[in-house]
Amino acid sequence: MIRAPYYAIATVCLLFSLLAGWIPIALQMDNNYYDWLMRLNPPPHPARDAVVLAVDDLTLQRHGGSRNLRRTIANALDAMSAAPPKAVVVDLILSDDSSPEDDAALAAAMRKTRTLILASDLVSNAEQWENPLPAFRAAAKAVGHVHVLPDRFDGVARQVPLERLAALDRRWALSLEAFRLATGAEGFIESNRELTIGKTRIPIPGRLDQNMMYIRYRNVAIPSVPMNEILEDHGKAAVLKDKVVFLGVTSQSMARDRLLTPYSFSVPLPGVAIHAHIYETIAQGEFLVPASHSAIALACLILALASATGFTFLAGWQAYVVAVVQIVLAHSLPHTMFSSGVVFPLMAPAASAWMTGLTCAAYLHFVVRRQLARTQQDKARYQQAIHFVSHEMRSPLSAIQGSSEMMGRYNLSEDKRKQMAAMIHSESKRLGKMIQTFLDVERLGEGQMELKREPFLLEDVITVCAGRARPLAEGKHINIYIGDLAAVEISGDRELMEYAVYNLLTNAIKYSPERTQVNIDLRVNGGNARVSVQDQGIGMDEKELKRIGTRFYRTERAEKSGEVGTGIGLSIVSQIVHHHGGKLEVTSAVGKGSCFTINVPAK
Ligand code: ADP
Repeated sequence: MIRAPYYAIATVCLLFSLLAGWIPIALQMDNNYYDWLMRLNPPPHPARDAVVLAVDDLTLQRHGGSRNLRRTIANALDAMSAAPPKAVVVDLILSDDSSPEDDAALAAAMRKTRTLILASDLVSNAEQWENPLPAFRAAAKAVGHVHVLPDRFDGVARQVPLERLAALDRRWALSLEAFRLATGAEGFIESNRELTIGKTRIPIPGRLDQNMMYIRYRNVAIPSVPMNEILEDHGKAAVLKDKVVFLGVTSQSMARDRLLTPYSFSVPLPGVAIHAHIYETIAQGEFLVPASHSAIALACLILALASATGFTFLAGWQAYVVAVVQIVLAHSLPHTMFSSGVVFPLMAPAASAWMTGLTCAAYLHFVVRRQLARTQQDKARYQQAIHFVSHEMRSPLSAIQGSSEMMGRYNLSEDKRKQMAAMIHSESKRLGKMIQTFLDVERLGEGQMELKREPFLLEDVITVCAGRARPLAEGKHINIYIGDLAAVEISGDRELMEYAVYNLLTNAIKYSPERTQVNIDLRVNGGNARVSVQDQGIGMDEKELKRIGTRFYRTERAEKSGEVGTGIGLSIVSQIVHHHGGKLEVTSAVGKGSCFTINVPAK
């Protein structure tokens, strides 16, 4: 069995799949699959702490629009201070001066707020922080960054950088700061693989983009309270008691920080809601880590090797089943891993399983099957050949058997005994020759044997063959008439040529009725020697003539004539003639007879 090819195929496919897994289209498909898994496995609980306090269109409309925003927020903070919330995150970059009265009012409201977290943004190509005004900053317990990285291919916000560094100033993500302060944790403890905040540990995979955290978006929206409601009825702020309030703009006209999420399809989610989702991901400990490159490569390797091993050691359908199982496994791998908190790509393992499976199957189908078919053909050919040899051997064998039996059983005259011994001798020699001829023809056909190249007279061949066929002809009262015999020499294998001429003669006798005549002659025509054997036998029609010489083909007419045959003799004759650089020509008419001509170049 050929083993190595499947492993070689698996190796090539593995390399291709690893490369294919990192091309943009594959990464995009991995993203789509991730989004689908995300929607399929939503977090089990709705938001517990986070509430969005939305500056929506109605709030802006009723409270002086964006120009009066600071005053509006100050009023909202005041309204909340009676509740009070566990923490208030203001998702607005309050870096520029507006009216001093408004700023003073906002700063005063901020100071009254128990736990306030403010937002900062990166500006000037991520080299500097855009900070809240000092008065605001002084009132805040922390300032966090608002960056959520949309995917570079499809713009979907799947991950958040836990920290950002600019001008040697490191900022933690806004929601992370909110979580730390809301839980009363001392600070952040960083280690190689995780970030600890109180009792919560956020895994940090050891990769380049290592401080990224997947956002587990909830399938139900984070509860949202329009700011207008609490401004109009301060009592309604009670719903925010002990909550972590994310205050931000959701108004269609003003909120520019809207991003796509795996749930949002074409409608982006306001940044403030995304921060609330990030908060809940941390608070409910729903962390996902990306699979490492080596784990992905190992999975691809196992899938490819399993397929190759299936094709190497299992027969037919079982190998296909193994390949299909690998493909199914490759597709379900991201799903299984997702349930245990690991984000596994789809494309690389799927490409590995599909490529290996399909290529091995194609190889099995086209190469191995073809080899098998050829071997079976060879086997059939040899069986037929053996059948032919044994059939051809029957007549000399029965002559030998009959003569030896008579010699043993009867008291024969010395002359008769000598005659029989001579017959046994010549017939056994013929047998030996026959075996040799057969082997030679087989080897000739396989291209293993060089044809002998010696000059001989065709005339001699004809005389010998006619002499040998005569007893057979006499049995049917057929006369073998030797016509013109040109003295022409050819170069080749005399024994093989004898075999060919003898075969044509015996066919002529076999397929002729009794008391007819078989003519044989030798002429020279245009540098070619032509040996013609003509009979007055059953003949062949046009259709039969076309197929004559095909291995194992016998005409129906010949079958009905009662003559046994194998349909192999003529194919050997034409091979012999072909190897002598000539061709076998046949003309025939049904019921009138046939004429077979060996046409070979004369020397
Ligand atoms: P076999 O004679 O053993 O069947 P051959 O290969 O010698 O095998 O011949 C193939 C077939 O060609 C014969 O079965 C017969 O149908 C046809 N054939 C050969 N020689 C003649 C002939 N002289 N006259 C009519 N049919 C012939």
